[in-house]
Amino acid sequence: MIHIDGSQGEGGGQIVRTSLALSMVTGQSVSIERVRAGREKPGLMRQHLTSLKAAQQLCGAEVAGDSIGSPTLVFQPGQVVPGSYQFSVGTAGSATLVLQTVLPPLLIASEPSRLILEGGTHNPWAPPFEFLQRSYLPLLNRMGPTVTATLERPGFYPAGGGRFVVEIEPAPPSGLVSFDLLERGDIRSRRGRVLLSNLPGHIADREMEELTRLAQWADGTLVRESTNAHGPGNVVLVELETADVTEVFVGFGEHGVKAETVAKRAIDDLRDYLVADVPVGPYLADQLLLPLGVSAWQSRETSRQCGTFRTMPLTQHSQTQIDVLQAFLEIPIHVDSEGPRESVTVRVGWK
Ligand code: ATP
Repeated sequence: MIHIDGSQGEGGGQIVRTSLALSMVTGQSVSIERVRAGREKPGLMRQHLTSLKAAQQLCGAEVAGDSIGSPTLVFQPGQVVPGSYQFSVGTAGSATLVLQTVLPPLLIASEPSRLILEGGTHNPWAPPFEFLQRSYLPLLNRMGPTVTATLERPGFYPAGGGRFVVEIEPAPPSGLVSFDLLERGDIRSRRGRVLLSNLPGHIADREMEELTRLAQWADGTLVRESTNAHGPGNVVLVELETADVTEVFVGFGEHGVKAETVAKRAIDDLRDYLVADVPVGPYLADQLLLPLGVSAWQSRETSRQCGTFRTMPLTQHSQTQIDVLQAFLEIPIHVDSEGPRESVTVRVGWK
């Protein structure tokens, strides 16, 4: 049994999701104490509970502590059964974070899977759908599996009701293959998108104007889209595609935040990323660590693989992710901060 302190480092829901994913991948049981102790409302929230139930459904796990607010949980995994599943958060809680939990074991399963995920698809503090589709999944696919995601309807806070479908063709039996991502290569395209649902059109007009003013792209495209979401919602998405990676930056429309500020937040994140001159942004970094860790772990007795990437100085999310990965996988992970001040190189596995 692996014991995880849920209050360590970042102290949030990611410790729970990563632990569940790695428990299913490795077959090791896990107990988590002080779940989300670093948060204002600690314990399991609806979104984390959905992840837990989804993981349980996937592998027939024995579970204790599966209730809202629970400060502890124990998860004893069974055999992961790939196939068709539907997971609904039931509120506007993030469905993309539920996918973070169940995807790793399905990437290395023996058969394909098809998942329908329902809930929030564009939530603050979670990967927006387009980040998954355009940035994260193409990198996973470079490791051997073929994963595609299709958005049927976006879900925004507070109405939720979003829905997307994920098709997973797992990696070959030889396992996931690590990769190096040290440069981002030449810029291929820049794209800005404003999504607006059941809100006054002037919000999108002002965001489009602000994007045009701030971005000053000679060759970029800007589009504005109405959506079929159940409730009101608004996001600004800015995408930079380079030869080796695509990054997606987002500004979330909120009550009391000016439309111009929403657009500026997405552009500010893009600028920070461009200035740092790295291929991997801070969110992609904590998320990439997981499949690279699994790949290294799978190769521990034979090829002893190594994946490396260059990113901005590590967030606490990434550092905590490393600590949880090491508790389960016992693989080397090195962070080298030599080189330009704005960047670090992360090496996952054996050199
Ligand atoms: P809690 O409620 O405990 O804060 P949580 O379960 O909502 O936790 P976190 O532990 O904060 O979530 O983890 C959030 C995850 O979402 C991280 O993997 C992070 O990289 C990702 N994420 C957050 N914002 C973005 C974004 N703008 N783009 C891509 N990914 C994001």
